[in-house]
Amino acid sequence: MFDKILIANRGEIALRVLRACQELGIPTVAVHSTADANAMHVRLADESVCIGPPPAKDSYLNIPALLSACEITGADAVHPGYGFLSENARFAEILGEHGIHFIGPKAEHIRQMGDKIEAKRTAKALGIPCVPGSDGGISSDSDALAIARSIGFPVLVKAAAGGGGRGMKVAHLEDDLATAIATARSEAKAAFGDDAVYLEKYLQRPRHIEIQVLGDGRGNAIHLGERDCSLQRRHQKVFEESPSPALNVAARDKIGTIVADAMRGLKYLGVGTVEFLFEDGEFYFIEMNTRIQVEHPVTEMITGIDLVLEQIRVAAGGELPVTQQDVEFRGHAIECRVNAENPSTFLPSPGKIQSYHPPGGLGVRVDSAVYQGYTIPPFYDSMVGKLIVHGKTRTECLMRLKRALDEFVVDGIETTLPLFRKLVRTQDIVDGNYHIHWLERFLAEGGMER
Ligand code: ADP
Repeated sequence: MFDKILIANRGEIALRVLRACQELGIPTVAVHSTADANAMHVRLADESVCIGPPPAKDSYLNIPALLSACEITGADAVHPGYGFLSENARFAEILGEHGIHFIGPKAEHIRQMGDKIEAKRTAKALGIPCVPGSDGGISSDSDALAIARSIGFPVLVKAAAGGGGRGMKVAHLEDDLATAIATARSEAKAAFGDDAVYLEKYLQRPRHIEIQVLGDGRGNAIHLGERDCSLQRRHQKVFEESPSPALNVAARDKIGTIVADAMRGLKYLGVGTVEFLFEDGEFYFIEMNTRIQVEHPVTEMITGIDLVLEQIRVAAGGELPVTQQDVEFRGHAIECRVNAENPSTFLPSPGKIQSYHPPGGLGVRVDSAVYQGYTIPPFYDSMVGKLIVHGKTRTECLMRLKRALDEFVVDGIETTLPLFRKLVRTQDIVDGNYHIHWLERFLAEGGMER
């Protein structure tokens, strides 16, 4: 096992990793920017190192500063959390060159899945069904038009280096295609420094269903069921649940088996998520995330498996905690991402939290790094925390969620809590009847004002 783990992240995920380390008895090192000197992860870690000024590029993304922090503290492993350097293959390699373990997959797998064109090729070769689209990048507008005609409009132009919903443009008609390509290219160039784009059929009413995997890097891998992340705004997840209201056990087993077999074939190491769109009973691969995800707690709640702890164990050469046959799915879990934003306009609302009272009780979990008197800095994402609720059935889970949301007090800043209070009282959500465009439509039609 590792002697000391440096957590190269901040906020709730830094705390989440810290908790797993503490349970494993591993000393921790927190790193922080000058804006985060008072942050909870800094207070709770055994040691902390300031790695730079507030902008992420100078601190949380600053590889030389992170290496120095490992050197100074004697950390022999780094957990990257999500975001920041978590899917940076070069970072994983540099750590390796310095004799430090990266708690994540092998660099080659991060690289392979980081390029979405390459990821789709790999998925196809591993027998995973993909969204119909261009076989690789598109070279010219005329080439793109020919492909778009063959798959049929509307089509989606996507950035090969995409992430966070950026570099994605829909073309409904032939006349829109050239503009969509140009806009996606320039957005991708600005955000990722890479303007390669590809085409996919634009699905009209799919659900976003993703499969959680865990591999030991030696050819053993299991799947831990699905998460339904169809409630999205600007292609960003807002609310996630497991099991999906749209799947039955047979459908889950079928896609889960395909994915676990593929991960065995890759000799995948650590946690990962294979993302699909699901429409009319068919799954279509869109991408794979080679890291722990924000919404991992819903899987933990229904499987009882601590994903971060197991991620650390397998990174240290440990075995998988259970065989596929022993994975049990119990009850239902839902997560709400509570952000410091206006619940109707979604404008960020950083500032000081005047009072804070998280909900509690049976089946209620809050993963957050804020506290009363804490000031949310304007430099990073606007998450206040995640509320995760578990129940024996979806109905019980929703009842409990409603109660927990009503109990949750965050004063001094605006939060998206009112949005969730509204959603759990909306018939389509109660019925589990929603798809990836549902929330945008609900908001556009004045759902929050009704
Ligand atoms: P990112 O890496 O930016 O998150 P993804 O490929 O994971 O991009 O897609 C994010 C979201 O965008 C999906 O969950 C879905 O809502 C939407 N999306 C992606 N591909 C398609 C598609 N072919 N048709 C319709 N919506 C899509």
